[in-house]
Amino acid sequence: MAIRPVITHPNEILTTKCTEVKAFDKKLATLLDDMYDTMIASDGIGLAAPQVGETIQVAIVDLGEGQEIIEMINPEVVEIGGSEIEIEGCLSFPDIYGEVERPFYVKVEAQDRDGALYELEAEDYEARAILHEIDHLHGVLFTTKIKRYVDLEELENEEEEA
Ligand SMILES: [Zn+2]
Repeated sequence: MAIRPVITHPNEILTTKCTEVKAFDKKLATLLDDMYDTMIASDGIGLAAPQVGETIQVAIVDLGEGQEIIEMINPEVVEIGGSEIEIEGCLSFPDIYGEVERPFYVKVEAQDRDGALYELEAEDYEARAILHEIDHLHGVLFTTKIKRYVDLEELENEEEEA
């Protein structure tokens, strides 16, 4: 178990297109385990390998709602549907939140840590998290998609008042 430092913007690693994973070995398993520990320690719901300095196509998502952690190696979006605007954040952009439009539904093809191909369907916030992490693997940052920046503290105060 190891927590790795999370790379924050600006850093060219974050805008690098990640390469395909070919070796499903112990090193990959260790990276996935470290990414999970790092994500939990950072209070995140997803993490992409470039955020810990590895420019390879590896990402994880865990909404923390008791389901199994999603590990995506070489993921590809094969279907999308609908659209939804919600507030997003990113561990590489501490304190930045904004409204981003994304598909409501997504179907992804990916490999697991053993290299086995699988298909995954998700909706709503889970789909959003998956698409956010896959964007990272293409060097695409959520700030390029923000339609409106949101002051989260202000928002929390409003919610308390409501
Ligand atoms: Zn992110």
